[in-house]
Amino acid sequence: MQIHILGTSSSKPAHGRSVSGSVINTEKGAIIVDCGEGFQERIYTHNKDLKEKKSLFRVKTGKICTILLTHGHLDHTWGLLPFLKTLSLEGRDKPLTIIAPTTHEIINRLFETKNPFAEISDLEPSNVDLCFQFRFWWSLGGTREFLDFETNWILVGTNENDEIGKTNAILIDPLGKSVEKIDDFKDYTNGIEILNIPTLHTVPSCAWWIKEDDKKGKFNSELAEKNNLTKEEIQLLAKGESVGNHSHLDYRSSEQTGPSVLISGDTSGENNGFINFSKTEKETSLLIHEATFMEENLDKAEKYLHSTAIQAANHAKLIKAKHLIITHYSSRIKDTKYLKDEAQKEFDSVHAASDKDVINLTSNSIEINS
Ligand SMILES: [Zn+2]
Ligand SMILES: [Zn+2]
Repeated sequence: MQIHILGTSSSKPAHGRSVSGSVINTEKGAIIVDCGEGFQERIYTHNKDLKEKKSLFRVKTGKICTILLTHGHLDHTWGLLPFLKTLSLEGRDKPLTIIAPTTHEIINRLFETKNPFAEISDLEPSNVDLCFQFRFWWSLGGTREFLDFETNWILVGTNENDEIGKTNAILIDPLGKSVEKIDDFKDYTNGIEILNIPTLHTVPSCAWWIKEDDKKGKFNSELAEKNNLTKEEIQLLAKGESVGNHSHLDYRSSEQTGPSVLISGDTSGENNGFINFSKTEKETSLLIHEATFMEENLDKAEKYLHSTAIQAANHAKLIKAKHLIITHYSSRIKDTKYLKDEAQKEFDSVHAASDKDVINLTSNSIEINS
């Protein structure tokens, strides 16, 4: 799994840092998490830089299957529609899925009325609710009418106290005007395993956990040949059947766990979503967590429902992540070294992300190319 971090600034570009957006390459395809203003420009220049550096890792836009949004603030969403338009101009014809959080009340209203455009103002949504943004994007050209590919628009209900893994999501077709419930995101991610973890911010928000599949161990055909087994017997062992007193388990190395990343989006440093997630069996190789403020600005973090670096580190400890990368810095932070130093008081493996970092992740190793 490789993660390309294409923006580390909160709310506005500052000190050479852009707003949020990341690309996660897995073996089954690529997923984007957040898509702030200028996202397509950043992918383009990032790829150009990687090509010049002769890097093995690129962002292949044709491989992108899903865009996940963490919440509706514009520094996380405003690059989405121009990016869709560019994909269409580049000749994309494969479907693309967009998944974004909203309130359970809005999900239920749209589902009960079976109307993507149902009145929701009485539910007092935030002015940047992603239900509104979906509707703007459709009206501005985000549908099959104007794009050369299908788009699956999915809203997922989120609340800090949700049970982890219990999904309340709807697939919306604005042209056919249909709304249907979906149970499994995998049908819309090219089979990549993802999970929404509710977080706590000033608008409905969630973190996204993304996992690469486990890999079967390698079959030891040399050992089978050395033991004078016939071709048919070797085939049976390779299929997972035992032959006589030869157990198939002796002929295959152990399974390799796939790496997983959890990307926080914007969140308060204390919330039930992370506590509930820590009680599940899910492993997290890497937590990418916002650290908008230094500890001296804890009052601001609490007021605006953001985190300090120490809170990010505490979340990494809580969910037993192997590594922590901090991001989403306030413009008051010039040198991210101080944030990293604070986080390292609580957690060993910390990196303060820079724009265009490429992280190569396995379940037991991490390599960061800045
Ligand atoms: Zn933000
Ligand atoms: Zn925000």
